[in-house]
Amino acid sequence: MAQLVYSSKINRIRSFALFLIFAGFGFMYGGIFARDIGWLMATLFIIGILCVIFSTVVYFWIGMLSTKAIPIICPSCDKPTKMLGRVDACMHCKQPLTLDKDLEGKEFDEKYNAGKHRREFNKKVKSNKD
Ligand SMILES: [Zn+2]
Repeated sequence: MAQLVYSSKINRIRSFALFLIFAGFGFMYGGIFARDIGWLMATLFIIGILCVIFSTVVYFWIGMLSTKAIPIICPSCDKPTKMLGRVDACMHCKQPLTLDKDLEGKEFDEKYNAGKHRREFNKKVKSNKD
């Protein structure tokens, strides 16, 4: 059976930032071809520069996220990795990981990080205390 491979969030954001840089240079390259049409060249260059600037912002954001991520040793490959949110995947072996005991053994699903589930989780924790 084919198993879905989940990439860790930090890796995914990093590839997104890399993609933005390439897209930015792509737009600027397109601007060179469109140099006969002044407004088109200007637009393409502006989009390109914005992509590159946005990508730097994303890289900066990854840096911020990494400091907040929880470093753990992956139980599957014994390498150090970082977790963002309640569910994430190992950076090295893509093993799905969770910090929530209730989700252990459950199918990996990104929706466990979304607001509704987080609220349900908090409610459950509260009702257990009562
Ligand atoms: Zn691993």
